[in-house]
Amino acid sequence: MKRREFILNSALTLAGTAFLAGCQNNDKIIKKEGKISKRKFKDIEMPLLGMGCMRLPMQGENVDMEELEKMADYLISHGANYFDTAYKYVDEKSEIAIGKILKNYKREDFLLADKSPIYKMTCQEDVKKIFDEQLKKCQVEYFDLYLCHNINNNVVDIYKNVKMYDELSKLKKEGKIKYLGFSFHGTPDLLKEIVKEHKWDFCQLQINYLDWELVKAKEQYEIAQSANLPIIVMQPLRGGGLVKLSEKSLAKLQEQNPNVKPAEFGLRWSASRKDVMTVLSGMSSLQQVKDNVETFINFKEVTPEEEKIAVEVAKIIQSQGEIRCTGCKYCLEVCPKGINIPAIFTLYNQYKLGQKAYRFQRYYDSLAESERPDKCIKCGLCAKNCPQHLEIPELLAKVKDEYDKIPKKSE
Ligand code: SF4
Ligand code: SF4
Repeated sequence: MKRREFILNSALTLAGTAFLAGCQNNDKIIKKEGKISKRKFKDIEMPLLGMGCMRLPMQGENVDMEELEKMADYLISHGANYFDTAYKYVDEKSEIAIGKILKNYKREDFLLADKSPIYKMTCQEDVKKIFDEQLKKCQVEYFDLYLCHNINNNVVDIYKNVKMYDELSKLKKEGKIKYLGFSFHGTPDLLKEIVKEHKWDFCQLQINYLDWELVKAKEQYEIAQSANLPIIVMQPLRGGGLVKLSEKSLAKLQEQNPNVKPAEFGLRWSASRKDVMTVLSGMSSLQQVKDNVETFINFKEVTPEEEKIAVEVAKIIQSQGEIRCTGCKYCLEVCPKGINIPAIFTLYNQYKLGQKAYRFQRYYDSLAESERPDKCIKCGLCAKNCPQHLEIPELLAKVKDEYDKIPKKSE
């Protein structure tokens, strides 16, 4: 399907609008037969499900364009026309890939968000220079939404020094950005400062039922709410961590409804927060796209009973001692020793979720020697770059300790 005529916003509103309970910024969920639900955001209707373009389907080192095309086609034809990319995603290949795919559609048929890489800025001029480069890579004339990427306590000085907000506001005035926002991984105090400082259109926060209390996602949500900022959710499934649940967590989740799936539950939970306009999912296959679209067609908010279940499941997950790594790989970009941090944490988490010790040992042994925890020199660079604020060197030591405890003959 190329350049298909899609029924756009106004028709949707007239044809099948259902108004549900109160949201501060946009209190309407818009439903239409066979399409995913939407929420009104200023002059656009945002699909409740957005495609996060950080985990695109791959064939070796390259993006699998054939699969990506099918995914985009399915999403757009079901009303899920929001794509969220960033400079650094997929080793800087995401913008180019998504640009090539979206070129097949009329510009008004999709909503494209991109992000300014704060870590790359050396001077004020860089903001526009990189922005222009991004427009070119994505093959568009403007971005519907544009964000300062990953404001956190480590990079906030760069963001301020290069006057990022001022520079991007100029581009907004020129019509090259429709709505300006930021994604955030810092402390609540920093968030308060950022929302007060400028007049943003929206923000992007990490919100899921595990982080709600654990990493103060609730506090951040309320700060955005009090600043009247609509929210886009990132990491609703914690990079897949809320999809592969332990037997115990899954049993609790399905206690009342054995058919509920972890991914569907996690997405619905995040999208049920009233000031959330879109939930991003980093989909990597057509099957994932189909499953997620299904969840958001005739979207159902979680019930009070399900809210309680989420709290219980979160408690079980916390008690299991998993490492809260989302697999974003930002630590890999800075590690001078090339230690495969996310792979090591994944192995460890699988072990904590019930995998047999000998398997943990076998997978650990299959890591290249240069990638193993004992090669860490404790420089701390990785921890500074980790959006989840993980104490990576200490955690690596912990993984190694666990490994050392397993008798070598356990196979
Ligand atoms: S602390 Fe260890 S894992 Fe982290 S960047 Fe330094 S060497 Fe790499
Ligand atoms: S350790 Fe942190 S930076 Fe590295 S992949 Fe995990 S979440 Fe990302």
